[in-house]
Amino acid sequence: MRVLVISDIHANITALDAIINDAPPYDAVWCLGDLVGYGPDPNDCIERVQRLPELLCLIGNHDKAALGEIPLSRFNRDAGDVVAWTQRELKDENKAFLQTLPNKIQVEGFTLAHGSPNQPVWEYILDPTTADRNFDELEKDYALVGHSHLPLIFHRPFDDSFAMLRPILWGEIMALSPKMILNPGSVGQPRDGDPRASYAILDTEDMTWEMRRSVYNIKAVQSRILKAGLPERQSIRLDAGW
Ligand code: ZN
Repeated sequence: MRVLVISDIHANITALDAIINDAPPYDAVWCLGDLVGYGPDPNDCIERVQRLPELLCLIGNHDKAALGEIPLSRFNRDAGDVVAWTQRELKDENKAFLQTLPNKIQVEGFTLAHGSPNQPVWEYILDPTTADRNFDELEKDYALVGHSHLPLIFHRPFDDSFAMLRPILWGEIMALSPKMILNPGSVGQPRDGDPRASYAILDTEDMTWEMRRSVYNIKAVQSRILKAGLPERQSIRLDAGW
């Protein structure tokens, strides 16, 4: 099975559509959370994601906040302002969809979590030490995570070795080998200095992983952010990918 792996769409429908159009053929979609927050299109993104084939979808911290399950004080001011706006904008049926989403999913050889397997909603896996704490507890050979908006691959080949960061080779098909923690980067708000939408294709038969980027019309999203009265910083950052 070929799986389109996406995360941190953050209410950016233009970026999501670019990926859906660009991606090579896939049978299923695994979405690692944060469908809303930061961006201007929360309803469109939830409605689009629901229609994707064989969908598995997690809840992220911004989705929980949009449901009122996390206090706005846990976010910086800009992000909190957008959460409050999202709470007002979201249609009831789309809130109901977010409410159905789990924190963590175990599927075949994979653990799916928004932040980390140990702390699915909030922990960022940014360094080998945090990766090792998660490898120690990992029930499966592989974990797929989002949350940091950074495309990252950690590898720990033996239980008594340490986690290592693997280089990202864009557009190249990489063989998976246990154990790995993989982050496909962010669809709607990449933070690695590359403004293009980030995602991955996982092949669960060949056991391969391919990281890919898609160009999208950033200007169109920026003008919707400003028109909705959302913080200007959320528009500016899309150009630079931070
Ligand atoms: Zn996020």
